[in-house]
Amino acid sequence: MSAHIGVTGLAVMGANLARNLARNGYTVALHNRSAGKTDALIEAHGDEGEFVRTETLAELVESLERPRRVLIMVKAGAPVDAVIEQLTPLLDEGDIVIDAGNSFYEETRRREEALREKGLHFVGVGVSGGEEGALNGPSIMPGGSKESYQTLGPMLEKISAKYNGEPCCAWVGTDGAGHYVKMVHNGIEYADMQVIGEAYDLMRSLGGLEPVQQAEAFREWNTTDLASYLIEITAEVLEQEDEVTGNPLVDVIVDSAGQKGTGRWTAISGLEVGSPVTAIAESVFARSISSQRELRAETNEVFPSGLDEHTPEVPYQEEGTQQTFVEDVRKALYASKLVAYAQGLDMLVSAADEYGWDLDLKSIASLWRAGCIIRADLLDTIMKAFDAAPEDRPKNLLLAEEFTEAINECLPSWRRVVAAAATYGVPAPVFSSSLSYYDSLRRDRLPAALIQGQRDYFGAHTYQRVDKEGTFHTLWSGSRIEVDA
Ligand code: NDP
Repeated sequence: MSAHIGVTGLAVMGANLARNLARNGYTVALHNRSAGKTDALIEAHGDEGEFVRTETLAELVESLERPRRVLIMVKAGAPVDAVIEQLTPLLDEGDIVIDAGNSFYEETRRREEALREKGLHFVGVGVSGGEEGALNGPSIMPGGSKESYQTLGPMLEKISAKYNGEPCCAWVGTDGAGHYVKMVHNGIEYADMQVIGEAYDLMRSLGGLEPVQQAEAFREWNTTDLASYLIEITAEVLEQEDEVTGNPLVDVIVDSAGQKGTGRWTAISGLEVGSPVTAIAESVFARSISSQRELRAETNEVFPSGLDEHTPEVPYQEEGTQQTFVEDVRKALYASKLVAYAQGLDMLVSAADEYGWDLDLKSIASLWRAGCIIRADLLDTIMKAFDAAPEDRPKNLLLAEEFTEAINECLPSWRRVVAAAATYGVPAPVFSSSLSYYDSLRRDRLPAALIQGQRDYFGAHTYQRVDKEGTFHTLWSGSRIEVDA
């Protein structure tokens, strides 16, 4: 019997996707560079469905029905190119090569073009949800040609996470669109995690709430507009006691956050497509600062953290004031989280323009409702916000009527929390940059006018006027008369 799909690369992600496919009734041909992983998978899980063991890529290709579908799940980067190079001579026109790893979207664009020239479909698929998701239903963001989705889509939809029965999988756009959307998902994830971290730090340092008390607060928040997977697991982490010391686990974990690169890619792409993803970039930088442990220790010796004689006393730890402060932090968190989503979605619109993708924000929001890390109740409301004819859609999430009231309601708290963070010296880079983003967008005049004046002064970069058409330059070093440029 021919297999429906082949999977090459059977480390944890590939093995779990292969098992997910087999459990859903597909016959899955298995291949790994070293046969040990193939055998281990068959031995441990061979009874979960129909598997075909193969030892070479030629055997793998041979075992597949047409058009062939080969899913590559090897280490991102050069190994993907190595596998493609070995695989493509074995395939025929119309066959589909799928890369479901964490590949950089520009590489996916390059690979798609190269394979298209050979008559093959190359589908870059964003997969979110980690090991567990790969096995039980991830959020799936496929790119590539629409034609390839006709035969591949139903399989991916079947193994994806479901939200109220709807698959969290839909074609997002051509070539690298799938990996791009996954990358932005991760960027939003960075910002979402950072704002939760800032909320925790403020409530602990200024509100005096111990981790266990905060676990309760986060659990409570998970019944509000903030309800989401990340809030849920935050409560679990804060409640965890360290087995060795008996202290909260969060107190014995080194405060240096790791990163694998997708947040950095999102920030870089934001710069490239000219989309101000300030919350996402600040989150990446916050992780970088956290990693500068030696520098932080030295700085702490010179400028100790905590309050000095000029700082007023922290007023948030009395009964009543503490509750008000916690509620302020909750609202600041919600508003900042909205900004992170607004910036991520905005960046998708800019990227769609840049790369010629026809991205549907409503559909993309629907893919993130289950199976992935940023799943949140908020996404249902985001879908409603973009459920309109293109000309009637809000230009920015913050302008959606579903959210304007929420922003207005959160605003006083947001300002109080950012002011408190600055007054008492607690870093809150994403709370404050998100507030600045909101204030920048709504400001009638920005100081950019002065910057244009400076640019014209030192570099004759010219400027435009508010009162007439044209481009102008002032003769700064001479008569200071304005001339048409
Ligand atoms: P790894 O990234 O650890 O890669 C290991 C696999 O790649 C092995 O099967 C290995 O084969 C194979 N491999 C490495 N180099 C080559 C090569 N030159 N030629 C052929 N095969 C090669 O595996 P993971 O399962 O952790 O991740 C797979 C992909 O999924 C990655 O892109 C990763 O970033 C992504 N990922 C996604 C997650 C998500 O949440 N979406 C979570 C984790 C990972 P061998 O056994 O012979 O060494």
